Amino acid sequence: MAKAPCAAHPQAPAVARCFRCFAPVCRACRVRVLRRTFCPRGCSAIYLLQRAAAEDWRYFRRAAASTGAGSSRRRAAMARCNASDRRSSRVSGG
Ligand SMILES: [Zn+2]
Ligand SMILES: [Zn+2]
Repeated sequence: MAKAPCAAHPQAPAVARCFRCFAPVCRACRVRVLRRTFCPRGCSAIYLLQRAAAEDWRYFRRAAASTGAGSSRRRAAMARCNASDRRSSRVSGG
């Protein structure tokens, strides 16, 4: 079974494929991030960004689900904020 050569070095045999774009990478090219192998063309950075976004989203949903208990306190704080905002705009207007 013939191995595919590295995408960047046709003379070098690929030792792995990029986790994201599946490009074959040789030993010199491979980028190891979070136990995954990536090509050196920025796939590791994209993967990290996507992972961060996914985890943010998960955190966001959990936070939204848990706001039910302390919402009245939060609403009061918001009302206070609105009041001070109105006062400050009056000062700056006059
Ligand atoms: Zn890649
Ligand atoms: Zn290479």
